[in-house]
Amino acid sequence: MTKKLRVGILGATGMVGQRFIQLLENHPQFEITALAASDRSQGKTFQEACSWRLAGEMPAFVKEMKVAAPEPPLDCELIFSSLPGDIARASEGAFARAGFPVISNSSAFRMDVDVPLLIPEVNHEHLGLLDTQLANHPGQRGYIVTNPNCSTIMLALALAPLHHKFGVTSVVATTMQALSGAGYPGVPSLAISDNVLPFIDGEEEKIEQETLKILGECKDGVVEGAPMAVSAQCHRVDVSDGHLAAVRVKLSRAAGLEELNEAFTSFTALPQELGLHSAPEHPIIVRDEADRPQPRLDRDAGNGMSITIGRVQPDNVLDYRFVALSHNTIRGAAGAAILNAELLIAQGKLI
Ligand code: NAP
Repeated sequence: MTKKLRVGILGATGMVGQRFIQLLENHPQFEITALAASDRSQGKTFQEACSWRLAGEMPAFVKEMKVAAPEPPLDCELIFSSLPGDIARASEGAFARAGFPVISNSSAFRMDVDVPLLIPEVNHEHLGLLDTQLANHPGQRGYIVTNPNCSTIMLALALAPLHHKFGVTSVVATTMQALSGAGYPGVPSLAISDNVLPFIDGEEEKIEQETLKILGECKDGVVEGAPMAVSAQCHRVDVSDGHLAAVRVKLSRAAGLEELNEAFTSFTALPQELGLHSAPEHPIIVRDEADRPQPRLDRDAGNGMSITIGRVQPDNVLDYRFVALSHNTIRGAAGAAILNAELLIAQGKLI
C-alpha cells in the first residue's frame, strides 16, 4: 500500500470542515494529521471544540486530536482550507509561502490571475497557472489551488458540455440555496422558517465572475474569460443541504433537445478516465421525471459528487432551460477540494 499524504484541515470545526473529516475518514490517499480553527477552539480536543452536525457519529480518530491555530507550520504535508473568506487570505498565503500546497474552498484567492479555479472535469488545463503563480512569487515554495463557490461549481459543470459542443453565449441562473451553505449556525430560524430570502451577500457576483474564469481558456499561463454573459439571482431557502438552480441558456449554434440531453448524459472527463477515487461515474445525471431534481431526493447522487439535471426544455426567451441540483458541502465544497487534490496527485504535482 502506498503511503498516505498527511493533511491538515483549516476551519475543521465548521460545516465544510466536518464534511472533510467525514469524506477523508477512509480515504486511500490521505490521512488527517492536523486540525485548525479559531481561537475559540484552539488548545481544545476536537470533540470539545466541535459540535458535530452531520448524520452519524463524529469519527473516533479525530476526537482526541488537538485543535491548532491556522498558521504554519502544522504537522502535515498538504492543507485543505475551509476558513471564512475574510481570514483565509492571510492564513492560506502564509501556508503557501511556508511550502505547503493549499487546496482551498474559500473565496479569497479564487479570482487571482495566477490561481487555478479548478473543476477537474471542466478545466484541468488551468493547472498550468501554477507555473505562473510560482514565477510571480519567487519566495513561495508551496502553492494555492481553489475550488469554486458551491453554486458556481454546479452551474459550470452543467454548462461545460453545452459550451464545448454548441457554444454558450448567455446564461441566466436563479438559485435556491440550502441553509448549510451559510455555515453553522448560519441563518436564524426565525428569518428562514416559512420564508425565502432573496439576498446572499456576494453570491451573485461570485457566480457571474467565477463561471467566466472556469470556462475560459488557459493559454501561455493566462486564463482568458469565456466570451459569454452570465446573470445570477440567489435565494436562501429552507432546505438543509442541496443547492438548486433554474438555468436558461442561449447557444452559439442551433441544437435539438435530443442533442442537449445527449451532451449532458454522455459527459465524462479526465477524472473518470483516470479513475480518481472521488470522481463519480457520471458527473451529470439527467432525470426525465417532470418533478425532478429535488434536494432531498437527488443531492446524494454519485455519493454527493454528481449533479442532477432535469426539466430540460426549449425556452421562449433564450434557447433552452433546465434545473440543476448539487450537494453544496460535497460537490460544492469538501468533495470538490478532495477531487482537486486527487488530480494533483495523478498529475505528479503533490508527490
Ligand atoms: P462555518 O460552519 O461557519 O465554519 C467556519 C470555520 O472557520 C470553523 O471551523 C471556525 O472555527 C473557523 N473560523 C472562523 N473564524 C475564524 C478565525 N478568525 N480564525 C480561524 N478560524 C476561524 O463555515 P463553512 O460553511 O464551513 O464555510 C467555510 C468556508 O467554506 C467559507 O469560506 C465558505 O464560504 C466556504 N464554502 C462553504 C460552502 C458551504 O456549502 N457551506 C460551500 C463552498 C464554500 P470555530 O469553530 O473555532 O469558530
